[in-house]
Amino acid sequence: MTTIDVLEYPVTYLSNVGPARAKLLKEGMGVRTYGDLLMQFPTKHIDRSRFYYTHELSPDMPYVQLKGQILSFEEEGQGRKRRIVGHFSDGNGVVDLVWFNGLQYIERSYHILTDYVVFGKPSVFKGRINITHPELTDLSAWKQMYQNGNDSAPILRPYYSVPEKLQKHGINSKMMEQWVETVFRLMHEPVKETLPQYLLDELHFMSRHQAIRAMHRPQSASEVTQATYRLKFEELFFIQLNILRYSRQRNLRYAGYVFDRVGMLFNQFYYNYLPFPLTEAQKRVIRQMREDMRSGRQMNRLLQGDVGSGKTIVALMTMLIAIGCGHQACLMAPTEILAEQHLATFRHLLAQMPVRVELLTSAVKGKRRNEIMEGLKDGSVNILIGTHAIIEDAVQFYSLGFVIIDEQHRFGVAQRAKLWQKAQVTGTGNQPLLPHVLVMTATPIPRTLAMTVYGDLDVSVIDELPPGRKPVQTIHHYENRRQQLYDGLRQQISQGRQAYIVYPLIKESEKMDLQNLEQGYNEFVKAFPDLRISMVHGKMKPAEKDSEMDRFVRGETQILMATTVIEVGVNVPNATVMAIMNAERFGLAQLHQLRGRVGRGADQSYCILVTAFKLSSDTKRRIQIMCETNDGFEIAEEDMKLRGPGDLEGTMQSGIPFDLHIANLARDGQLVQQARDYARRLLDSDPQANLPENANTWAQLANLNRDSVDWSAIS
Ligand code: ADP
Ligand code: MG
Repeated sequence: MTTIDVLEYPVTYLSNVGPARAKLLKEGMGVRTYGDLLMQFPTKHIDRSRFYYTHELSPDMPYVQLKGQILSFEEEGQGRKRRIVGHFSDGNGVVDLVWFNGLQYIERSYHILTDYVVFGKPSVFKGRINITHPELTDLSAWKQMYQNGNDSAPILRPYYSVPEKLQKHGINSKMMEQWVETVFRLMHEPVKETLPQYLLDELHFMSRHQAIRAMHRPQSASEVTQATYRLKFEELFFIQLNILRYSRQRNLRYAGYVFDRVGMLFNQFYYNYLPFPLTEAQKRVIRQMREDMRSGRQMNRLLQGDVGSGKTIVALMTMLIAIGCGHQACLMAPTEILAEQHLATFRHLLAQMPVRVELLTSAVKGKRRNEIMEGLKDGSVNILIGTHAIIEDAVQFYSLGFVIIDEQHRFGVAQRAKLWQKAQVTGTGNQPLLPHVLVMTATPIPRTLAMTVYGDLDVSVIDELPPGRKPVQTIHHYENRRQQLYDGLRQQISQGRQAYIVYPLIKESEKMDLQNLEQGYNEFVKAFPDLRISMVHGKMKPAEKDSEMDRFVRGETQILMATTVIEVGVNVPNATVMAIMNAERFGLAQLHQLRGRVGRGADQSYCILVTAFKLSSDTKRRIQIMCETNDGFEIAEEDMKLRGPGDLEGTMQSGIPFDLHIANLARDGQLVQQARDYARRLLDSDPQANLPENANTWAQLANLNRDSVDWSAIS
């Protein structure tokens, strides 16, 4: 019998796993085989040589081990609250051991006045310390299991966190530990190595088998650290290897247009019409794209720049390169308001230049629409700006050379795929030529995440704001101090400034949220009878919404009250105050996006976060971070720490294509970089990357999940 066979045994082969538990293990933990069990690493290791005394216990202790006897059992409570309590004493005091189910089982299995080792988490109930669902081990069995005859050595024992649902069926950490030990006992061969030998040597890694063994039963704390490091590296390494291998294949396959010169238009604009000197970051980003565009490969670049960092001018100038080389360019925005704003900016900046810019949204109809369609087909329209109306089948270009997608997180994968198809139509010859693609986003995706999720896109960052900007000052107000908020607003507005008041709106409580906005509107109208106030929300008719918005943009109204529809891209430099109501209901990323609507002019701007009085500690932390920093990347990193990477706004929709098993993107940033470097080196020397045969389940996992996303469409 070979090793692999043992690891593929279904868990039902284990002595105390029947069909019911097997089902729970599969559904609750994804564990189906012995091999899967080995990959369930303990969440911590506990020094099992350490015993506490009952009188030392406090509810803030994570886990404790006690030695003593159950004095008596007692049943308490009725119905669902029924529980069995074992009064446990070590001679120094008494703690209650509590079970909520399996009552008969408990009384049958455990006996009074017998020596036990109790292991569990202390908590407080009705002023008394108790341990719910403790793990009880017969003292002699414990000695055999944990001490191996050696009384003094520190013994690190794994602690496996088992989902609550499984705990209710008697599956606990101790049981996991026993199962894992059984698997190791049955194995005849070590777990297969997956990393190349030279890597193990160079990085001083333990073997895969040693690492997995050490995770479950380490000799020392430092062994756990080493094992964890190796396993994390391996996981990230294979993901990076896949991403890089994929992107290299793509580069071989897809040629891009060659824009071999920046062209007349770019130069003309640069020397005559550039409205302000570019920041160093803007220059750098333009240079990077310039390199891509003449490389002969299709550019796939993600441009990250915090709100207000000046992505638009970069978009415009790189478009001029494409046009100067005889092609068309298009810019796709997530909303009509934004598309119109881009159109106005482009027309304004290009007023003196021979460049025709048109707008295509679903609102553009009839004759006008036909004219634009004609112009696109015959090439007389140089730049097309629009919403997703651009990707309709009827829209055909003469020669689309460059596509920019603004605020990418609003676009689904499928929509992007359609744009690509459109591009194929323009391809000629045997090999389809693809237009260059720039995805712009203000959602500051932390570098580590970008590298993993968008590993096959190149990333450029505008990490510098235009000069003269004053950082927005952020202040926290409790809801009950409304008057202060009014006074502050009044003061700014009396100086000719404008203000946004934002209310949360989510699908689940849409009706209530809209009522809140409307109630708020009435309150503000009452408080500021002399001012004009706009209101905008997603449930309004588009025309009505646009006109309310326009009134604010033109300065006819002083206050704009809105739900989060204003989150993306709107540019009103005269607005210097934003009050965010119920700020506790917003995520960090969203708060930051919203705040980006102010601080766009030379004046000092303010962001007021209004919250209820009682806040959870996470919320307090979010508010605190917002008050402390304006740096989008810092905020994104914090956000990832608070919420975990899978939850980040913006990556939600694009979808992280794999679950990380052991590595953590928020914490293991450096390791991601290292894994990437090594993966790159391996591919340089061995493009096929012939890894040890059947290179590990994680590599397969990474592959598998990637395929569930149509990567050819988005990268
Ligand atoms: P975003 O990156 O959020 O799209 P925009 O491109 O809308 O930012 O730029 C925000 C504001 O900053 C605009 O009013 C723009 O004209 C201005 N701006 C951009 N680049 C510079 C620069 N280098 N110097 C001064 N102002 C700039
Ligand atoms: Mg923008």
